[in-house]
Amino acid sequence: MHPYDVYDPWDHAAELGYDVITGPRTRPEHNAETHHDIRLIILDPERTWRQHRFDVAHECAHIVRGDQPIPEGIELRKRELACDRIAAERLIDRERLIRSMLEHPDPATWCLDLDITSRALRVYLEQHPDIADEVEQRRTRPCGERCRVSSA
Ligand SMILES: [Zn+2]
Repeated sequence: MHPYDVYDPWDHAAELGYDVITGPRTRPEHNAETHHDIRLIILDPERTWRQHRFDVAHECAHIVRGDQPIPEGIELRKRELACDRIAAERLIDRERLIRSMLEHPDPATWCLDLDITSRALRVYLEQHPDIADEVEQRRTRPCGERCRVSSA
């Protein structure tokens, strides 16, 4: 049995009935574009695997919310941040992040460990300012038994 229940944005898109491809977008400055009429998410081919992972999770958030196109402006920026937050919540397992933070001092390593972008990490930590305290508490706790094999 696999000990991790890892969120897969591509599976989520498929469950929602959307195909995901890379290719030219109507607005090339956008990292990703969702066409509800043909149930298609188009990703920027120039972005990396981890960026795509975040982009698909972000687009799934729009789909689940039922977002329709709105003009540029404060409402759009709020909506984009909301979808970034939803994506980060889905992509980041709190316990795995804490374990990575206990193991390494470098946030870039946390991103590699969890297969997430620095944007996802930043948005998540803004929403969970208590994590730093929890890491500090665990760091000072005695570690106890490392492992035990039971035949029971
Ligand atoms: Zn968006």
